[in-house]
Amino acid sequence: MTQRRGPFSGSKNMWAWLSTATALALVLVLLTVLGGTESDTDPVTLSSTPSPGPWQPVATAGTSATPESTPVVPPADPATAPSWMRKLNPGEKPPQFVLFSFDGAGSTAHWARVLPLAKRSGAHVTALLSGIYLLENSRKNEYTGPGHPRGSAEITFGGTRQEVVNRIGYFNQAIADGHEIGTHYNGHFCQGAEPSVGFWSTQDWNSEMDQFNKFVEVGRQLGLRLDPTTIRGGRTPCLEHKQDQLFPAMLQHGLVYDTSQVTLGVQWPKVKQGVWEFAMPEVRIPALNSKVVMMDFNLWYALNGAQEQPERKAEFSQITLDTYRSVYNETFNGNRAPLVIGNHFNEWAGGAFGDAVERFMGEVCVKTDTVCATYTEVMQWMQLQDPAVLQEFRNMPAAMN
Ligand SMILES: [Zn+2]
Repeated sequence: MTQRRGPFSGSKNMWAWLSTATALALVLVLLTVLGGTESDTDPVTLSSTPSPGPWQPVATAGTSATPESTPVVPPADPATAPSWMRKLNPGEKPPQFVLFSFDGAGSTAHWARVLPLAKRSGAHVTALLSGIYLLENSRKNEYTGPGHPRGSAEITFGGTRQEVVNRIGYFNQAIADGHEIGTHYNGHFCQGAEPSVGFWSTQDWNSEMDQFNKFVEVGRQLGLRLDPTTIRGGRTPCLEHKQDQLFPAMLQHGLVYDTSQVTLGVQWPKVKQGVWEFAMPEVRIPALNSKVVMMDFNLWYALNGAQEQPERKAEFSQITLDTYRSVYNETFNGNRAPLVIGNHFNEWAGGAFGDAVERFMGEVCVKTDTVCATYTEVMQWMQLQDPAVLQEFRNMPAAMN
């Protein structure tokens, strides 16, 4: 693959053209693709059959007539902020942000690989923690998923006290290294495990978030050095949720970004109901010439119906890596929208998806004009920009590989 290198100069004309071509991008194609039931790390219990259901891409324009306020996060510390944390000059292209985000984030084996890799690559990543990974098995009755029996969840609890403590050690290292911790909520109730998160009310989400915060407190009592006020957003299980029910609960809990919705191609974040939405892109898998939400389970399902075929690890890893590269190139040379790379820490297909994401992190985060950043860092950067410039970016056509 090739990509443009060097300064952002000489491309103002292209950008102006892209802005005027915005209308072309607003043709929404309805696609039926996988919603995907996925599960988290470690030994996973799935009481429900994976049940990929149809979803529709969210509307990209004119969704609300109500003025919405833009969330504000604390600014970056000028003493330690990287050089790219500044306002763009007129006509200057933004950095290509890549947001590596890991759902569940309970697997210490994955952390042991990702932490040194991220350090070598200058990457900051976001761990979207399943709260019950901080709750040892013997305390599982301290969790009651909305509508579900006490002590029940679709993923495992934290294991032994020692396993929780070991996990906390990795979280502390991650925090010290500048990575961010958000939430994947707790019980991972997807379609089929009713009442699943797609049917939860604001009251249900409030209960789930209250309990998430309680488990963070449990973790803190065991040595977790996580300031709860730095938990600023999350991704819902299997990307399922009703926005009008979820977002009010998020705002009540100080959460200001969501990264659970799906857009056609890579698009700039936008504020919905007072929450920054960093959508997951639906992209093309070049090897299959089919479209899929760019997330590990969905890729797996597209590749072989999510059958466990560890002998195909190398093949699946390469196809996934080539997909990431293709989407990155299209975005870098197009609208430069922050690119969300969402994965679980999992061993599906022999670990093909973790392998692909790690290979991609190693090569992309060191590229020119590319910044692998956390959600908070991108929000801080957006706060520094002229709102009209950000709106120009949002008006550009989605990056479609
Ligand atoms: Zn998940």
